Amino acid sequence: MRLTRIIATLGPATDSPEMLGALIDAGVNVFRLNMSHARHDWVRRIVADIRSLARQRQVVPGILMDTQGPSIRTGDVPAPVELRVGDRFHFAVHGHAVPPGARGTTVNYDGLVTDVHAGDTLVVDNGDMKMRVLATTPSGVECEVLTEGKLGSRRHINLPGVRVSLPALTDKDRADVALGLELGVDFIALSFVREPSDIVLLRDCFRDHARKPLVVAKIEHQFAVDHFDAIAAESDVVMVARGDLGIECPYEELPIIQRRIVKACARIGRPVIVATHMLESMIQSPLPTRAEVTDVANAVFEQADAIMLSGETTVGRHPLACIEVMDRIARRIERSGGANYHHEAELTQPRQKLVKSAVLLADELRAAALVAFTRSGQLPRFAAAARPRSAPVFAFCDSEALAAQLAILRGVVPLVLPSCTNDPEGSIEGALQRLRSRGFIQQGEPAVIIVPASNSQDRSADSIKMHLA
Ligand code: PEP
Repeated sequence: MRLTRIIATLGPATDSPEMLGALIDAGVNVFRLNMSHARHDWVRRIVADIRSLARQRQVVPGILMDTQGPSIRTGDVPAPVELRVGDRFHFAVHGHAVPPGARGTTVNYDGLVTDVHAGDTLVVDNGDMKMRVLATTPSGVECEVLTEGKLGSRRHINLPGVRVSLPALTDKDRADVALGLELGVDFIALSFVREPSDIVLLRDCFRDHARKPLVVAKIEHQFAVDHFDAIAAESDVVMVARGDLGIECPYEELPIIQRRIVKACARIGRPVIVATHMLESMIQSPLPTRAEVTDVANAVFEQADAIMLSGETTVGRHPLACIEVMDRIARRIERSGGANYHHEAELTQPRQKLVKSAVLLADELRAAALVAFTRSGQLPRFAAAARPRSAPVFAFCDSEALAAQLAILRGVVPLVLPSCTNDPEGSIEGALQRLRSRGFIQQGEPAVIIVPASNSQDRSADSIKMHLA
């Protein structure tokens, strides 16, 4: 089995029920909805489709809503605009239109006219195009195109090094988060996190909700890199969002930043996603480049919890082949070993030490399975953080909502077994039977079982057992 989890972003290439079903069958663990492009009616339909297709297959994929955040975006254009070097292009703000006869579009950030000055460079559409600012007026910014390209709708503009004065959660984000809460999405990712208080602001939106999504901090800005430890401490999951990070920071720093973040996450047991441009050429081509194979392999070797596809599965021509490529690379690299950054992990709680002992036992026995019964998700989280060498962690939960939140963890297979945590001891045989009947383990193979105390207040009574399946 593959331990590294795969996240696929959904879009026009993948939003039919047939494709969603095929993606689940191909092994997608978490579906990402990018709110920079998604309409609410589309999100409602997709979430319902994912859940019903997953139930038919008895799997529990996670659903991750990714907010736009304080991102500067160009407006809608009726058709992509072809731009050549030397062309003039106008960005209109404050509700103004593009001047008659000029080419241009609107932009969602009025502060652009004060943040940039003549001679500054705008980086447009993930670095595909650069423009030099010629002049700013209260109604817009006049630019000269430096690198040719095609400008579509809602393209991102980066201003490297500028602290954009948009709020951490825009009105659009708040409306999107409200939808996410209504639909019970499992994760909400906050884009362009700058400091830990941004995460607190997002959590405030669901302080009174019973079903709280986990918060993913997207590290895509030098400010986030500078405040990384405090941001990671506030968040549930971290994403190395390399698309923007590679523009906001010098690109030669990117591999160093990625490794530092993955290592820091291993130290504190925080799940980490490596994202963006992993198989970019496969948007067009049926095969990855050798460099892409090596990049995916590197993230798997670093033992990231999850690797993510964006354009490859939203608009790409070969979305299913991308999952197959990631799956093949992950399985092969996992067999060859890993960086084992978790050896430096800080284990502060007795329970973490107990779970680590179970993982070491599973490694020694070459166990076919680690089984954890869980009420809060803590046991499988600790087990995943201890990076079992090859045994998957089968996390038995009472609820689908908790199971879906575990789908992002390296090596964790969430399963719903109603009432199993009321009597974990008595549920062991039923759980092993389920694993046998689903083909996860064979009769007689060793399994290590982490049994929580029946009384959730008394964690000193957690125990580890060894069973032959
Ligand atoms: C990124 O920048 O790498 C990223 C994941 O964010 P988005 O796709 O929202 O730009």
